[in-house]
Amino acid sequence: MSGHSRVEVYPGCEAIVEFDESLTFECVSECTWCCQHGVLLYGEDLRELAARESLDGPLKQLKGHDFIRRESKDRDEFVDVDDQACYFLNDEGLCSLHAEHDWKPTRCSVFPLEIHVEDGEIHVSIREKAHQHCDGLDVSERKVVDHLDAFLPKLLWELDDPTSRIEL
Ligand code: SF4
Ligand code: SF4
Repeated sequence: MSGHSRVEVYPGCEAIVEFDESLTFECVSECTWCCQHGVLLYGEDLRELAARESLDGPLKQLKGHDFIRRESKDRDEFVDVDDQACYFLNDEGLCSLHAEHDWKPTRCSVFPLEIHVEDGEIHVSIREKAHQHCDGLDVSERKVVDHLDAFLPKLLWELDDPTSRIEL
């Protein structure tokens, strides 16, 4: 654990930072890698989504969890190797939830970070595959460690299991 720093993200909510603190991030609009996955929805996300959109189309249940499902897309450049991407990724490669409601689920904010819990504390690192696929790493002056609240919604500290290991 030496070399890892403890950052107070919100009053009383700390995270242990396990990535290089010189790392910068700025999302690159032509890149849609993180939106090619299915997104886990926490209970609060589900309620927030239901207040904005019909839940008839977008959901998929797996192993007792709710996810936003993936679907085939017309635009080849926005899809994963299986030609699919998030239900809410629109034809312009943008999140329709963000565009129309200025809101997105908790787990979408966490990308490209990864969370695990040790001794009850939230530890944050960079997803292994993000170094290959997330075009937003180290392309700006915006240091990740100085903006952790943008990646880690406060809800994460209220969850029984805030880890990023539950995936579709
Ligand atoms: S909900 Fe929006 S931000 Fe999240 S994966 Fe889907 S398109 Fe991307
Ligand atoms: S993978 Fe990174 S750069 Fe690409 S859309 Fe997601 S957050 Fe932005």
